[in-house]
Amino acid sequence: MASIELQNVNKWYGNAVHAVREISFKIEDGEFFGLLGPSGSGKTSVLRMLAGLETVTEGDILFDGASVTDQTPQQRNIAMVFEQNALYPHMTARQNIAYPLKIRGKSKTEMDEMVGDVARMLHIDHLIDRRASQMSGGQQQRVAIARALVRRPNLLCLDEPIAHLDTLLRARLRGELKRLQRSLGTTSVIVTHDPIEAMTMTDRLAVMRDGVLQQIGSPDEIHNRPVNAFVSQFFGLHSMNLFRLEGLRESAGRFSGSLNDTHAEVPRSAMAHADKSDRLLVGCRPHAVEVVKQGETPPADTFRITGRVYVAEPLGEVTLVTIQIGDLTVQALDARKRDYAIDEEVTVAVPQSALYAFDTETEETVAFGEGADMLPDADLRAV
Ligand code: ADP
Ligand code: MG
Repeated sequence: MASIELQNVNKWYGNAVHAVREISFKIEDGEFFGLLGPSGSGKTSVLRMLAGLETVTEGDILFDGASVTDQTPQQRNIAMVFEQNALYPHMTARQNIAYPLKIRGKSKTEMDEMVGDVARMLHIDHLIDRRASQMSGGQQQRVAIARALVRRPNLLCLDEPIAHLDTLLRARLRGELKRLQRSLGTTSVIVTHDPIEAMTMTDRLAVMRDGVLQQIGSPDEIHNRPVNAFVSQFFGLHSMNLFRLEGLRESAGRFSGSLNDTHAEVPRSAMAHADKSDRLLVGCRPHAVEVVKQGETPPADTFRITGRVYVAEPLGEVTLVTIQIGDLTVQALDARKRDYAIDEEVTVAVPQSALYAFDTETEETVAFGEGADMLPDADLRAV
């Protein structure tokens, strides 16, 4: 186990691709850390540099305060699990898991004990004498994880380890990996493009975009206090809805603006974040949206704009309503579970306290909405 630090790390592939740009952060000993970002954002490059599988173009990597930048993966004592596992198909689970111990010259008794322990933890003890080629994808991935953990590495590197499994299995392995990591306390880094994986499993995570670190924090911090519009849309069970308004004006003490030529009512408090050109960028999570049907009175002091129901999808305790406003799509979670007709005209109403505001140019967050952590449980199960 070790603490890990990246200092001003850059990765260039040739002269053209600057895949990782000046990244610095620290991972505490025993932490489960996530690297999250869209495809091509540089996550795998960072992980491979941590592992020693890829050279660092500029900068330094430290394990427990000492530079390992020029060390091999073996010297760093890291273990890695990839999306596509690299098990020996003709070997049994036991032989695969024991392999890293065997090449380190462990005795048979030691090996049996260590393999038995990790196999029980991963619920594969009943498969222990089956060949890898005769196992399902999920079983193979458990064996690959067992093989990575059996020799107690300083750092466990996981690159999209469960991405290709089916939904139910993924949800199960997510929980098991978290439990296992907690009980072993092995410093671990997982690369994923799936915000749900990053959110549910990790202690803290780094969000990346185009090789640039956007934000580091706990899942709750990043969810509730995203640093910019990109993070707010990328992270979370449901993206932040964003409303880009222009032509803000006041009339008889009320404020309004337009979004793709559609009229919107703007609460007074949000006007503080308007730019010099009378534009405003605000957002809210879907649970904060109230869907107001025709004939109902929208609540006062709300951001309001009218559109049409694109589709409504029941998620058990709540209904996910997608509303089309010009070419903008807005999502709402309706806890009242009302019926919606396709193309029904509805008004989206957002209490001013739930609104986030972003700089219209840089898209950095300038004000946080309240209560962004009130995600209904039903929703998690639906994913
Ligand atoms: P991610 O894991 O987030 O999808 P990667 O770290 O794999 O991102 O890639 C980041 C960028 O670097 C991408 O633009 C990718 O095409 C490029 N890249 C990755 N590996 C190589 C390589 N071996 N040679 C050239 N370009 C690469
Ligand atoms: Mg990758």
